Amino acid sequence: MSEVDRIPVLVVAGFLGAGKTSLVRHLLAEAQAAGVRVAVVSNEFGALGIDRALLAGADTAPGGVPIRELEGGCVCCELTDDLVNTLEALRREVAPDQIVIETSGVALPYDVQLSLWRPPVSEWISDDLGIVVVNAEQLAEGRDLGPTFEQQVSAADLLVLNQVDRVDEARLPALETQLRALEPDAVIVRAVHGQVDRALLVPPETPRGGRVPRDGHVCGDGHVHERFASELIDVEAGIAPDTLIARLRGLGALRAKGWVETPEGTRLVQGVGRRIELSPGAPPGPEWARRVVVIRRVD
Ligand SMILES: [Zn+2]
Repeated sequence: MSEVDRIPVLVVAGFLGAGKTSLVRHLLAEAQAAGVRVAVVSNEFGALGIDRALLAGADTAPGGVPIRELEGGCVCCELTDDLVNTLEALRREVAPDQIVIETSGVALPYDVQLSLWRPPVSEWISDDLGIVVVNAEQLAEGRDLGPTFEQQVSAADLLVLNQVDRVDEARLPALETQLRALEPDAVIVRAVHGQVDRALLVPPETPRGGRVPRDGHVCGDGHVHERFASELIDVEAGIAPDTLIARLRGLGALRAKGWVETPEGTRLVQGVGRRIELSPGAPPGPEWARRVVVIRRVD
């Protein structure tokens, strides 16, 4: 299976009320506008029942979003077999461009990601990203910040500080410092109503047909917003992995994806924040040889 046929998976975790569903809904709207088919697996008890209509209507509706619900336990520990079976069925029956797993409020994203590395799904999942949505107001008030919260945050690849419009802007840096103390390596982004730029939630676009990545765009409509831009970097042949990783980190890459030629051979590069990994893999076309797409913040 070539890299372009693989399906990226996004794991969305965070307490009930953190804003997971609004984030998923926003992602689905952006994906729909971009013509990307996203499927959703939800383990958020009750929440989706209410939101199903908002998400897309019936899961069999033409043009609707395929949704599978996992009930009767937690997807990170009790339902791991169900999760793997559900993902496999989605790939077979729907073949979406991306799969989003909305976890229950107590689930640990990293434990869900462990299931993604099991066969048979490990054969076709291209990139798994674990994000944790944090309610800024809850954090500011020190509510429910127990061990589960700390474990969730410390397992995140990307942290979404959500509902920042409900907190005095001057307090936000301190809240980010608090999160960074728990998870120094995760990317932290601010959001209102779960509106996170889709560019951060999918692997940088290197898809079918060698489409050139789009320009970054402004996301969020609150008084606090951040901008992101994607950029194509040419990488010289024979680069050492350590040199490449240092360069991408130096560029402030929040996400990175591409193909390079190391002394050991051609490698697929995938990165989320400081987690940058190289694995064997050939580019989908010559236009992607020795090139890496980098998503980073624009001031
Ligand atoms: Zn669990």
